[in-house]
Amino acid sequence: MTRPKQADAPPPKASDAFPLPLYITNVVFFTLFFSVVYYLLARWREKIRTSTPLHLVSSAEMAAIIAFVASFIYLVGFFGIDFVQSLILRPTVDSWSDEEEEEVESVILKEDSRKLPCGQAVDCPPVPQQMTPVFPLGKPKLVEEPVEPIALGEEDEQIISSVVAGTIPSYSLESKLGDCRRAAAIRREALQKITGKSLKGLPLEGFDYDSILGQCCEMPVGYVQIPVGIAGPLLLDGREFSVPMATTEGCLVASTNRGCKAILMSGGANSVLLRDGMTRAPVVRLGSAKRAAELKMFLESPENFEDLAAVFNRSSRFARLQSIKCAIAGKNLYMRFSCSTGDAMGMNMVSKGVQNVLDFLQSDFPDMDIIGISGNFCSDKKPAAVNWIEGRGKSVVCEAVIKGDVVRKVLKTSVDALVELNMLKNLTGSAIAGALGGFNAHASNIVSAVYIATGQDPAQNVESSHCITMMEAVNEGQDLHVSVTMPSIEVGTIGGGTQLASQSACLNLLGVKGANKDSPGSNAALLAKVVAGSVLSGELSLMSALAAGQLVRSHMKYNRSSKDVSKASS
Ligand code: ADP
Repeated sequence: MTRPKQADAPPPKASDAFPLPLYITNVVFFTLFFSVVYYLLARWREKIRTSTPLHLVSSAEMAAIIAFVASFIYLVGFFGIDFVQSLILRPTVDSWSDEEEEEVESVILKEDSRKLPCGQAVDCPPVPQQMTPVFPLGKPKLVEEPVEPIALGEEDEQIISSVVAGTIPSYSLESKLGDCRRAAAIRREALQKITGKSLKGLPLEGFDYDSILGQCCEMPVGYVQIPVGIAGPLLLDGREFSVPMATTEGCLVASTNRGCKAILMSGGANSVLLRDGMTRAPVVRLGSAKRAAELKMFLESPENFEDLAAVFNRSSRFARLQSIKCAIAGKNLYMRFSCSTGDAMGMNMVSKGVQNVLDFLQSDFPDMDIIGISGNFCSDKKPAAVNWIEGRGKSVVCEAVIKGDVVRKVLKTSVDALVELNMLKNLTGSAIAGALGGFNAHASNIVSAVYIATGQDPAQNVESSHCITMMEAVNEGQDLHVSVTMPSIEVGTIGGGTQLASQSACLNLLGVKGANKDSPGSNAALLAKVVAGSVLSGELSLMSALAAGQLVRSHMKYNRSSKDVSKASS
Protein backbone atom coordinates (compact mmCIF):
# COMPACT_ATOMS: atom_id res chain seq x y z
CA MET A 1 0.00 0.00 0.00
CA THR A 2 1.30 3.42 -0.86
CA ARG A 3 0.94 6.15 1.70
CA PRO A 4 -1.30 9.04 0.64
CA LYS A 5 0.72 12.01 -0.51
CA GLN A 6 0.50 14.98 1.81
CA ALA A 7 -0.49 18.10 -0.03
CA ASP A 8 1.80 20.31 1.99
CA ALA A 9 4.79 17.97 2.22
CA PRO A 10 7.93 19.59 0.78
CA PRO A 11 9.22 18.10 -2.47
CA PRO A 12 11.84 15.36 -1.90
CA LYS A 13 15.50 16.44 -2.10
CA ALA A 14 18.53 14.37 -3.02
CA SER A 15 19.91 15.03 0.47
CA ASP A 16 16.93 13.12 1.93
CA ALA A 17 18.70 9.93 0.79
CA PHE A 18 21.67 10.56 3.11
CA PRO A 19 21.77 8.18 6.02
CA LEU A 20 22.92 10.94 8.40
CA PRO A 21 21.41 14.35 9.21
CA LEU A 22 22.48 16.99 6.71
CA TYR A 23 24.64 19.03 9.05
CA ILE A 24 26.70 15.92 10.00
CA THR A 25 27.17 15.03 6.31
CA ASN A 26 28.34 18.59 5.65
CA VAL A 27 30.80 18.47 8.54
CA VAL A 28 32.17 15.10 7.31
CA PHE A 29 32.72 16.37 3.75
CA PHE A 30 34.22 19.67 4.92
CA THR A 31 36.65 17.83 7.18
CA LEU A 32 37.48 15.34 4.45
CA PHE A 33 38.08 18.09 1.90
CA PHE A 34 40.46 20.13 4.05
CA SER A 35 42.27 17.06 5.37
CA VAL A 36 43.03 15.64 1.91
CA VAL A 37 44.03 19.08 0.60
CA TYR A 38 46.47 19.41 3.46
CA TYR A 39 47.75 15.86 2.93
CA LEU A 40 48.19 16.25 -0.84
CA LEU A 41 50.01 19.61 -0.48
CA ALA A 42 52.32 18.07 2.11
CA ARG A 43 53.05 15.13 -0.21
CA TRP A 44 53.63 17.50 -3.13
CA ARG A 45 56.16 19.54 -1.16
CA GLU A 46 57.89 16.35 -0.03
CA LYS A 47 58.20 15.10 -3.63
CA ILE A 48 59.65 18.40 -4.83
CA ARG A 49 62.15 18.35 -1.97
CA THR A 50 63.22 14.73 -2.70
CA SER A 51 62.99 15.18 -6.53
CA THR A 52 60.43 12.33 -6.81
CA PRO A 53 58.43 12.45 -10.10
CA LEU A 54 54.92 13.80 -9.39
CA HIS A 55 53.12 11.19 -11.54
CA LEU A 56 54.28 8.37 -9.29
CA VAL A 57 51.43 8.08 -6.79
CA SER A 58 51.09 5.66 -3.94
CA SER A 59 47.77 3.97 -3.12
CA ALA A 60 47.32 6.36 -0.14
CA GLU A 61 47.81 9.35 -2.48
CA MET A 62 45.39 7.81 -4.99
CA ALA A 63 42.76 7.42 -2.25
CA ALA A 64 43.39 11.03 -1.17
CA ILE A 65 42.87 12.28 -4.76
CA ILE A 66 39.59 10.34 -5.04
CA ALA A 67 38.45 11.71 -1.67
CA PHE A 68 39.42 15.25 -2.80
CA VAL A 69 37.40 14.97 -6.04
CA ALA A 70 34.41 13.44 -4.24
CA SER A 71 34.31 16.05 -1.47
CA PHE A 72 34.86 18.86 -3.99
CA ILE A 73 31.91 17.65 -6.11
CA TYR A 74 29.76 17.37 -2.99
CA LEU A 75 30.59 20.86 -1.72
CA VAL A 76 30.15 22.54 -5.11
CA GLY A 77 26.89 20.65 -5.64
CA PHE A 78 25.59 21.59 -2.22
CA PHE A 79 26.63 25.21 -1.85
CA GLY A 80 27.62 26.34 -5.34
CA ILE A 81 24.35 25.70 -7.14
CA ASP A 82 22.32 27.56 -4.51
CA PHE A 83 24.74 30.49 -4.72
CA VAL A 84 24.67 30.67 -8.53
CA GLN A 85 20.87 30.42 -8.52
CA SER A 86 20.59 33.20 -6.00
CA LEU A 87 22.79 35.42 -8.20
CA ILE A 88 20.81 34.70 -11.35
CA LEU A 89 17.33 34.80 -9.88
CA ARG A 90 17.55 37.71 -7.44
CA PRO A 91 16.25 40.85 -9.16
CA THR A 92 17.65 44.19 -8.10
CA VAL A 93 15.32 47.05 -7.36
CA ASP A 94 16.56 48.79 -10.49
CA SER A 95 15.56 45.85 -12.62
CA TRP A 96 11.88 46.30 -11.88
CA SER A 97 10.21 46.66 -15.20
CA ASP A 98 6.79 47.50 -16.47
CA GLU A 99 6.30 43.81 -17.05
CA GLU A 100 6.77 43.14 -13.38
CA GLU A 101 4.37 45.90 -12.48
CA GLU A 102 1.88 44.26 -14.78
CA GLU A 103 2.52 41.01 -12.97
CA VAL A 104 1.66 42.67 -9.66
CA GLU A 105 -1.41 44.14 -11.28
CA SER A 106 -2.44 40.73 -12.51
CA VAL A 107 -1.98 39.28 -9.03
CA ILE A 108 -4.27 41.98 -7.64
CA LEU A 109 -6.74 41.27 -10.39
CA LYS A 110 -6.50 37.56 -9.67
CA GLU A 111 -7.43 38.48 -6.13
CA ASP A 112 -10.61 39.88 -7.67
CA SER A 113 -11.51 36.52 -9.02
CA ARG A 114 -11.13 34.69 -5.70
CA LYS A 115 -14.16 32.57 -5.13
CA LEU A 116 -13.78 32.86 -1.38
CA PRO A 117 -13.64 35.95 0.76
CA CYS A 118 -10.30 37.24 1.85
CA GLY A 119 -9.14 39.85 4.28
CA GLN A 120 -11.46 38.56 6.99
CA ALA A 121 -9.98 36.56 9.83
CA VAL A 122 -12.88 34.27 10.58
CA ASP A 123 -14.21 33.59 7.11
CA CYS A 124 -10.90 33.64 5.27
CA PRO A 125 -9.87 30.24 3.95
CA PRO A 126 -6.32 29.10 4.57
CA VAL A 127 -3.96 30.61 2.02
CA PRO A 128 -3.20 27.97 -0.63
CA GLN A 129 0.16 26.37 0.08
CA GLN A 130 1.15 26.36 -3.56
CA MET A 131 0.68 30.05 -4.27
CA THR A 132 3.55 31.13 -6.48
CA PRO A 133 5.44 34.14 -5.20
CA VAL A 134 5.20 37.32 -7.25
CA PHE A 135 8.97 37.65 -7.43
CA PRO A 136 11.43 34.76 -7.23
CA LEU A 137 13.34 36.34 -4.37
CA GLY A 138 14.76 33.09 -3.05
CA LYS A 139 14.28 31.80 0.45
CA PRO A 140 12.78 34.29 2.88
CA LYS A 141 15.25 35.30 5.54
CA LEU A 142 14.19 36.17 9.05
CA VAL A 143 16.36 38.36 11.18
CA GLU A 144 17.29 35.81 13.80
CA GLU A 145 20.82 36.65 14.63
CA PRO A 146 21.88 39.97 16.07
CA VAL A 147 23.43 42.27 13.48
CA GLU A 148 26.22 43.13 15.88
CA PRO A 149 25.86 40.85 18.84
CA ILE A 150 26.36 42.56 22.16
CA ALA A 151 29.47 41.15 23.78
CA LEU A 152 28.60 40.43 27.37
CA GLY A 153 31.64 40.84 29.58
CA GLU A 154 32.52 39.33 32.92
CA GLU A 155 30.76 42.11 34.79
CA ASP A 156 27.62 41.51 32.73
CA GLU A 157 27.74 37.79 33.52
CA GLN A 158 27.78 38.66 37.20
CA ILE A 159 24.76 40.93 36.79
CA ILE A 160 22.97 38.18 34.88
CA SER A 161 23.65 35.78 37.76
CA SER A 162 22.31 38.35 40.23
CA VAL A 163 19.13 38.83 38.17
CA VAL A 164 18.70 35.06 37.96
CA ALA A 165 19.24 34.78 41.73
CA GLY A 166 16.74 37.60 42.32
CA THR A 167 19.19 39.91 44.09
CA ILE A 168 18.93 42.53 41.32
CA PRO A 169 15.35 43.22 40.15
CA SER A 170 15.03 42.92 36.39
CA TYR A 171 13.07 46.18 36.20
CA SER A 172 15.92 48.17 37.74
CA LEU A 173 18.51 47.30 35.08
CA GLU A 174 18.00 50.43 32.98
CA SER A 175 18.42 52.81 35.92
CA LYS A 176 21.32 50.81 37.41
CA LEU A 177 23.31 50.50 34.18
CA GLY A 178 22.31 53.75 32.47
CA ASP A 179 22.41 51.86 29.17
CA CYS A 180 19.06 50.65 27.84
CA ARG A 181 20.52 48.41 25.13
CA ARG A 182 22.82 46.62 27.57
CA ALA A 183 19.99 46.33 30.09
CA ALA A 184 17.81 44.61 27.48
CA ALA A 185 20.64 42.22 26.53
CA ILE A 186 21.29 41.29 30.17
CA ARG A 187 17.60 40.85 30.96
CA ARG A 188 17.22 38.66 27.89
CA GLU A 189 20.10 36.40 28.93
CA ALA A 190 18.78 36.17 32.47
CA LEU A 191 15.31 35.33 31.17
CA GLN A 192 16.67 32.53 28.99
CA LYS A 193 18.55 31.13 31.97
CA ILE A 194 15.54 31.36 34.31
CA THR A 195 13.06 29.83 31.89
CA GLY A 196 15.42 27.44 30.12
CA LYS A 197 13.77 28.61 26.87
CA SER A 198 15.55 30.14 23.91
CA LEU A 199 14.58 33.56 22.54
CA LYS A 200 16.28 32.85 19.21
CA GLY A 201 14.14 34.45 16.52
CA LEU A 202 13.15 37.43 18.68
CA PRO A 203 15.66 40.08 17.56
CA LEU A 204 17.48 42.21 20.09
CA GLU A 205 19.64 44.37 17.84
CA GLY A 206 18.41 47.03 15.44
CA PHE A 207 16.15 48.79 17.92
CA ASP A 208 16.55 52.02 19.87
CA TYR A 209 15.76 50.98 23.44
CA ASP A 210 16.27 54.54 24.71
CA SER A 211 13.26 55.65 22.67
CA ILE A 212 10.84 53.48 24.65
CA LEU A 213 12.17 54.14 28.15
CA GLY A 214 9.46 55.44 30.45
CA GLN A 215 6.98 55.81 27.58
CA CYS A 216 6.23 52.74 25.52
CA CYS A 217 7.42 49.47 27.05
CA GLU A 218 9.02 48.31 30.28
CA MET A 219 11.51 45.49 30.74
CA PRO A 220 12.21 44.94 27.02
CA VAL A 221 14.04 41.81 25.83
CA GLY A 222 13.69 42.42 22.09
CA TYR A 223 11.03 43.38 19.60
CA VAL A 224 8.52 41.63 17.37
CA GLN A 225 8.76 42.21 13.64
CA ILE A 226 5.53 42.85 11.75
CA PRO A 227 5.64 43.36 7.99
CA VAL A 228 4.24 46.62 6.65
CA GLY A 229 2.40 46.56 3.33
CA ILE A 230 1.12 49.51 1.36
CA ALA A 231 -2.41 49.90 0.04
CA GLY A 232 -3.13 52.69 -2.37
CA PRO A 233 -3.17 55.19 -3.73
CA LEU A 234 -6.24 56.02 -1.73
CA LEU A 235 -7.81 59.04 -3.39
CA LEU A 236 -9.50 60.88 -0.53
CA ASP A 237 -10.78 64.46 -0.60
CA GLY A 238 -8.73 65.10 -3.74
CA ARG A 239 -5.43 63.86 -2.25
CA GLU A 240 -3.64 60.58 -2.77
CA PHE A 241 -2.41 58.57 0.20
CA SER A 242 -0.24 55.46 0.38
CA VAL A 243 -1.64 53.65 3.38
CA PRO A 244 0.81 51.65 5.54
CA MET A 245 -0.67 48.49 7.06
CA ALA A 246 1.20 46.33 9.56
CA THR A 247 -0.26 42.87 9.46
CA THR A 248 0.50 39.17 9.26
CA GLU A 249 -2.86 38.36 7.71
CA GLY A 250 -2.45 37.30 4.10
CA CYS A 251 -4.82 38.96 1.58
CA LEU A 252 -5.57 41.94 3.80
CA VAL A 253 -3.32 44.49 2.11
CA ALA A 254 -4.05 43.13 -1.38
CA SER A 255 -7.76 43.27 -0.67
CA THR A 256 -7.65 46.85 0.69
CA ASN A 257 -5.50 47.81 -2.28
CA ARG A 258 -8.19 46.53 -4.62
CA GLY A 259 -10.78 48.66 -2.81
CA CYS A 260 -8.49 51.70 -3.18
CA LYS A 261 -8.24 50.98 -6.87
CA ALA A 262 -12.02 50.83 -7.29
CA ILE A 263 -12.33 54.16 -5.46
CA LEU A 264 -9.54 55.75 -7.52
CA MET A 265 -11.12 54.62 -10.80
CA SER A 266 -14.45 56.06 -9.67
CA GLY A 267 -13.09 59.54 -8.92
CA GLY A 268 -12.19 59.19 -5.25
CA ALA A 269 -13.83 59.24 -1.84
CA ASN A 270 -14.92 62.15 0.34
CA SER A 271 -14.88 62.38 4.10
CA VAL A 272 -16.18 64.68 6.84
CA LEU A 273 -15.01 64.98 10.43
CA LEU A 274 -18.26 65.17 12.38
CA ARG A 275 -16.91 65.48 15.92
CA ASP A 276 -13.55 65.53 17.67
CA GLY A 277 -13.40 64.97 21.42
CA MET A 278 -11.58 62.58 23.72
CA THR A 279 -13.50 61.51 26.83
CA ARG A 280 -12.80 60.52 30.40
CA ALA A 281 -15.48 59.74 32.98
CA PRO A 282 -14.55 59.53 36.65
CA VAL A 283 -16.88 57.91 39.18
CA VAL A 284 -17.59 59.69 42.45
CA ARG A 285 -19.81 58.73 45.36
CA LEU A 286 -21.93 61.16 47.39
CA GLY A 287 -23.88 60.81 50.61
CA SER A 288 -27.22 60.36 48.85
CA ALA A 289 -28.77 60.06 45.42
CA LYS A 290 -30.14 63.61 45.97
CA ARG A 291 -26.61 64.98 46.44
CA ALA A 292 -25.44 63.06 43.38
CA ALA A 293 -28.27 64.67 41.39
CA GLU A 294 -27.30 68.12 42.69
CA LEU A 295 -23.74 67.62 41.48
CA LYS A 296 -25.04 66.40 38.12
CA MET A 297 -27.11 69.56 37.72
CA PHE A 298 -24.18 71.73 38.76
CA LEU A 299 -21.91 70.11 36.16
CA GLU A 300 -24.46 70.22 33.36
CA SER A 301 -25.65 73.77 34.01
CA PRO A 302 -24.60 76.10 31.15
CA GLU A 303 -23.83 78.87 33.71
CA ASN A 304 -21.06 76.83 35.27
CA PHE A 305 -19.47 75.64 32.04
CA GLU A 306 -17.08 78.55 31.60
CA ASP A 307 -15.60 78.21 35.10
CA LEU A 308 -15.27 74.46 34.78
CA ALA A 309 -13.69 74.80 31.33
CA ALA A 310 -11.14 77.33 32.63
CA VAL A 311 -10.11 74.86 35.36
CA PHE A 312 -10.05 71.90 32.97
CA ASN A 313 -8.07 73.68 30.24
CA ARG A 314 -5.18 74.38 32.59
CA SER A 315 -4.01 70.80 31.88
CA SER A 316 -2.60 71.70 28.45
CA ARG A 317 -2.62 74.49 25.89
CA PHE A 318 -4.23 71.96 23.52
CA ALA A 319 -6.97 70.65 25.82
CA ARG A 320 -10.30 72.46 25.38
CA LEU A 321 -13.31 71.24 27.32
CA GLN A 322 -16.36 70.68 25.09
CA SER A 323 -18.99 69.10 27.31
CA ILE A 324 -19.76 67.22 30.53
CA LYS A 325 -22.49 64.58 30.40
CA CYS A 326 -23.47 62.77 33.58
CA ALA A 327 -25.15 59.47 34.45
CA ILE A 328 -26.32 58.44 37.90
CA ALA A 329 -26.44 55.00 39.52
CA GLY A 330 -27.97 55.51 42.98
CA LYS A 331 -25.70 57.89 44.88
CA ASN A 332 -22.84 57.34 42.44
CA LEU A 333 -22.19 59.84 39.69
CA TYR A 334 -20.37 59.26 36.41
CA MET A 335 -19.24 62.48 34.67
CA ARG A 336 -18.22 62.10 31.04
CA PHE A 337 -15.84 64.93 30.16
CA SER A 338 -15.18 65.49 26.46
CA CYS A 339 -12.39 67.71 25.14
CA SER A 340 -10.40 68.45 22.02
CA THR A 341 -6.74 67.39 22.31
CA GLY A 342 -4.91 68.85 19.31
CA ASP A 343 -2.84 66.24 17.50
CA ALA A 344 -2.55 63.97 20.54
CA MET A 345 -4.87 61.01 20.98
CA GLY A 346 -5.47 62.74 24.28
CA MET A 347 -5.93 60.22 27.08
CA ASN A 348 -3.25 61.83 29.27
CA MET A 349 -4.44 65.32 28.48
CA VAL A 350 -8.10 64.65 29.30
CA SER A 351 -7.19 62.75 32.48
CA LYS A 352 -5.13 65.69 33.75
CA GLY A 353 -8.01 68.09 32.99
CA VAL A 354 -10.48 65.85 34.81
CA GLN A 355 -8.19 65.70 37.85
CA ASN A 356 -8.10 69.54 37.89
CA VAL A 357 -11.92 69.71 37.89
CA LEU A 358 -12.26 67.06 40.61
CA ASP A 359 -9.87 69.02 42.83
CA PHE A 360 -11.88 72.19 42.15
CA LEU A 361 -15.21 70.50 42.94
CA GLN A 362 -14.06 69.31 46.34
CA SER A 363 -14.50 72.80 47.80
CA ASP A 364 -18.22 73.00 46.85
CA PHE A 365 -18.88 69.28 47.32
CA PRO A 366 -16.69 68.19 50.24
CA ASP A 367 -18.86 65.06 50.66
CA MET A 368 -17.81 63.92 47.16
CA ASP A 369 -15.73 60.77 47.41
CA ILE A 370 -13.58 60.15 44.32
CA ILE A 371 -13.78 56.43 43.65
CA GLY A 372 -11.84 56.33 40.37
CA ILE A 373 -10.58 58.77 37.74
CA SER A 374 -12.03 56.32 35.19
CA GLY A 375 -15.46 54.89 35.89
CA ASN A 376 -15.90 53.05 32.56
CA PHE A 377 -18.49 55.53 31.25
CA CYS A 378 -15.61 56.98 29.15
CA SER A 379 -15.40 54.20 27.73
CA ASP A 380 -11.83 53.16 26.88
CA LYS A 381 -10.90 49.86 25.19
CA LYS A 382 -14.23 48.14 25.88
CA PRO A 383 -17.25 47.78 23.61
CA ALA A 384 -19.83 50.28 24.92
CA ALA A 385 -22.94 51.86 23.45
CA VAL A 386 -21.91 55.28 24.77
CA ASN A 387 -19.05 55.48 22.26
CA TRP A 388 -21.22 54.17 19.45
CA ILE A 389 -23.92 56.77 20.14
CA GLU A 390 -22.01 59.77 21.53
CA GLY A 391 -18.66 59.20 19.79
CA ARG A 392 -15.14 59.16 21.24
CA GLY A 393 -12.07 60.63 19.59
CA LYS A 394 -12.84 61.46 15.99
CA SER A 395 -16.23 60.75 14.40
CA VAL A 396 -15.88 60.44 10.63
CA VAL A 397 -18.15 59.65 7.73
CA CYS A 398 -16.57 58.67 4.41
CA GLU A 399 -18.34 57.99 1.13
CA ALA A 400 -17.75 57.19 -2.53
CA VAL A 401 -19.81 56.51 -5.62
CA ILE A 402 -18.36 53.46 -7.36
CA LYS A 403 -19.14 53.31 -11.06
CA GLY A 404 -21.08 50.27 -12.19
CA ASP A 405 -18.36 49.47 -14.69
CA VAL A 406 -15.73 49.45 -11.94
CA VAL A 407 -17.93 47.24 -9.75
CA ARG A 408 -18.05 44.73 -12.58
CA LYS A 409 -14.47 44.95 -13.87
CA VAL A 410 -12.44 45.58 -10.71
CA LEU A 411 -14.67 44.18 -7.99
CA LYS A 412 -16.03 41.38 -10.16
CA THR A 413 -19.56 41.64 -8.85
CA SER A 414 -22.68 43.72 -9.40
CA VAL A 415 -24.25 46.71 -7.70
CA ASP A 416 -27.39 44.75 -6.86
CA ALA A 417 -25.46 41.85 -5.32
CA LEU A 418 -23.47 44.25 -3.12
CA VAL A 419 -26.54 46.18 -1.97
CA GLU A 420 -28.37 42.98 -1.13
CA LEU A 421 -25.43 41.45 0.69
CA ASN A 422 -24.85 44.62 2.70
CA MET A 423 -28.47 44.72 3.76
CA LEU A 424 -28.59 41.07 4.79
CA LYS A 425 -25.11 40.79 6.30
CA ASN A 426 -23.95 44.13 7.68
CA LEU A 427 -27.35 45.44 8.70
CA THR A 428 -29.79 42.58 9.30
CA GLY A 429 -27.22 39.93 10.21
CA SER A 430 -25.50 42.22 12.69
CA ALA A 431 -28.87 43.23 14.17
CA ILE A 432 -29.73 39.57 14.66
CA ALA A 433 -26.35 39.06 16.33
CA GLY A 434 -27.09 41.97 18.70
CA ALA A 435 -24.03 43.81 17.40
CA LEU A 436 -22.71 46.92 19.11
CA GLY A 437 -21.14 49.11 16.44
CA GLY A 438 -20.32 46.05 14.37
CA PHE A 439 -22.45 46.80 11.32
CA ASN A 440 -19.60 46.17 8.93
CA ALA A 441 -17.67 43.34 7.30
CA HIS A 442 -14.17 43.76 8.74
CA ALA A 443 -13.43 47.35 9.75
CA SER A 444 -11.24 46.15 12.64
CA ASN A 445 -8.91 44.40 10.20
CA ILE A 446 -7.97 47.68 8.54
CA VAL A 447 -8.10 49.77 11.72
CA SER A 448 -5.72 47.39 13.54
CA ALA A 449 -3.24 47.22 10.67
CA VAL A 450 -3.10 51.02 10.23
CA TYR A 451 -2.97 51.54 14.01
CA ILE A 452 0.00 49.21 14.45
CA ALA A 453 1.86 50.77 11.51
CA THR A 454 1.33 54.34 12.73
CA GLY A 455 1.97 53.84 16.45
CA GLN A 456 -1.61 54.12 17.70
CA ASP A 457 -2.80 52.16 20.72
CA PRO A 458 -3.95 48.88 19.16
CA ALA A 459 -6.17 48.12 22.18
CA GLN A 460 -8.38 51.05 21.15
CA ASN A 461 -9.22 49.07 18.08
CA VAL A 462 -12.22 47.86 20.13
CA GLU A 463 -14.19 51.08 19.78
CA SER A 464 -12.24 52.63 16.92
CA SER A 465 -13.59 49.84 14.70
CA HIS A 466 -17.23 50.73 15.41
CA CYS A 467 -18.56 51.24 11.91
CA ILE A 468 -21.77 51.05 9.95
CA THR A 469 -21.31 50.33 6.26
CA MET A 470 -24.10 51.46 3.98
CA MET A 471 -24.56 50.57 0.31
CA GLU A 472 -27.18 51.88 -2.05
CA ALA A 473 -27.77 51.77 -5.79
CA VAL A 474 -27.69 55.28 -7.30
CA ASN A 475 -27.88 56.87 -10.77
CA GLU A 476 -30.87 54.73 -11.75
CA GLY A 477 -29.28 51.60 -10.33
CA GLN A 478 -26.12 51.95 -12.43
CA ASP A 479 -23.64 52.90 -9.69
CA LEU A 480 -23.01 52.09 -6.05
CA HIS A 481 -23.04 54.62 -3.23
CA VAL A 482 -20.98 53.23 -0.37
CA SER A 483 -20.21 54.83 2.97
CA VAL A 484 -18.67 54.04 6.33
CA THR A 485 -19.66 55.96 9.45
CA MET A 486 -17.20 55.57 12.29
CA PRO A 487 -18.03 57.47 15.51
CA SER A 488 -14.99 56.68 17.66
CA ILE A 489 -11.67 56.73 15.84
CA GLU A 490 -9.03 57.38 18.53
CA VAL A 491 -5.83 58.52 16.87
CA GLY A 492 -2.95 60.89 17.45
CA THR A 493 0.18 61.92 15.60
CA ILE A 494 2.15 62.97 18.68
CA GLY A 495 2.75 61.14 21.96
CA GLY A 496 2.66 57.43 22.75
CA GLY A 497 4.08 55.09 20.13
CA THR A 498 3.90 57.66 17.34
CA GLN A 499 7.40 59.02 17.99
CA LEU A 500 9.15 55.66 17.52
CA ALA A 501 11.25 55.50 14.37
CA SER A 502 9.23 52.95 12.35
CA GLN A 503 5.82 54.30 13.30
CA SER A 504 6.97 57.85 12.71
CA ALA A 505 8.14 56.85 9.20
CA CYS A 506 4.66 55.52 8.42
CA LEU A 507 3.06 58.75 9.67
CA ASN A 508 5.53 60.67 7.52
CA LEU A 509 4.46 58.65 4.48
CA LEU A 510 0.91 59.84 5.08
CA GLY A 511 2.10 63.43 5.57
CA VAL A 512 0.79 63.60 9.15
CA LYS A 513 3.93 63.13 11.22
CA GLY A 514 4.03 64.91 14.58
CA ALA A 515 2.24 68.03 15.69
CA ASN A 516 0.83 70.38 13.09
CA LYS A 517 2.32 73.76 14.04
CA ASP A 518 0.07 75.88 11.81
CA SER A 519 -3.17 74.19 12.64
CA PRO A 520 -2.92 72.03 15.80
CA GLY A 521 -5.17 69.01 15.54
CA SER A 522 -5.34 68.84 11.76
CA ASN A 523 -2.74 66.06 11.45
CA ALA A 524 -4.68 63.77 13.78
CA ALA A 525 -7.96 64.70 12.07
CA LEU A 526 -6.48 63.85 8.67
CA LEU A 527 -5.17 60.53 10.00
CA ALA A 528 -8.69 59.68 11.24
CA LYS A 529 -10.06 60.42 7.76
CA VAL A 530 -7.40 58.19 6.18
CA VAL A 531 -8.38 55.39 8.57
CA ALA A 532 -12.02 55.78 7.50
CA GLY A 533 -11.05 55.90 3.80
CA SER A 534 -8.99 52.75 4.19
CA VAL A 535 -11.88 51.03 5.95
CA LEU A 536 -14.13 52.07 3.05
CA SER A 537 -11.67 50.38 0.66
CA GLY A 538 -11.49 47.25 2.79
CA GLU A 539 -15.25 47.02 3.08
CA LEU A 540 -15.74 47.38 -0.67
CA SER A 541 -13.23 44.66 -1.48
CA LEU A 542 -14.27 42.05 1.07
CA MET A 543 -17.96 42.59 0.41
CA SER A 544 -17.29 42.14 -3.30
CA ALA A 545 -15.34 38.93 -2.70
CA LEU A 546 -18.19 37.66 -0.58
CA ALA A 547 -20.81 38.71 -3.11
CA ALA A 548 -18.90 37.00 -5.92
CA GLY A 549 -18.52 33.84 -3.83
CA GLN A 550 -22.17 33.93 -2.97
CA LEU A 551 -23.04 34.22 -6.63
CA VAL A 552 -20.90 31.22 -7.53
CA ARG A 553 -22.43 29.16 -4.75
CA SER A 554 -25.99 30.15 -5.55
CA HIS A 555 -25.36 29.38 -9.23
CA MET A 556 -24.15 25.94 -8.20
CA LYS A 557 -27.16 25.46 -5.99
CA TYR A 558 -29.96 26.93 -8.04
CA ASN A 559 -28.81 26.65 -11.64
CA ARG A 560 -27.39 23.16 -11.39
CA SER A 561 -29.63 21.71 -8.75
CA SER A 562 -30.26 18.62 -10.89
CA LYS A 563 -26.54 17.78 -10.90
CA ASP A 564 -24.65 16.04 -8.15
CA VAL A 565 -22.71 19.02 -6.87
CA SER A 566 -20.50 16.99 -4.56
CA LYS A 567 -19.18 14.98 -7.52
CA ALA A 568 -18.75 18.06 -9.62
CA SER A 569 -16.59 19.68 -7.04
CA SER A 570 -14.32 16.70 -6.39
P1 ADP B 1 -1.87 61.67 25.01
O1 ADP B 1 -2.66 62.75 25.70
O2 ADP B 1 -2.40 61.27 23.70
O3 ADP B 1 -1.61 60.50 25.91
P2 ADP B 1 0.58 63.00 25.52
O4 ADP B 1 0.22 63.10 26.92
O5 ADP B 1 1.89 62.38 25.19
O6 ADP B 1 -0.50 62.28 24.63
O7 ADP B 1 0.43 64.49 24.96
C1 ADP B 1 1.06 65.00 23.91
C2 ADP B 1 2.08 66.05 24.33
O8 ADP B 1 2.48 66.74 23.15
C3 ADP B 1 1.57 67.09 25.29
O9 ADP B 1 2.57 67.38 26.23
C4 ADP B 1 1.33 68.31 24.41
O10 ADP B 1 1.54 69.54 25.11
C5 ADP B 1 2.36 68.15 23.32
N1 ADP B 1 1.96 68.75 22.04
C6 ADP B 1 2.75 69.50 21.24
N2 ADP B 1 2.10 69.88 20.13
C7 ADP B 1 0.87 69.34 20.21
C8 ADP B 1 -0.27 69.35 19.35
N3 ADP B 1 -0.29 69.99 18.18
N4 ADP B 1 -1.35 68.67 19.76
C9 ADP B 1 -1.37 68.02 20.92
N5 ADP B 1 -0.34 67.95 21.75
C10 ADP B 1 0.79 68.61 21.43
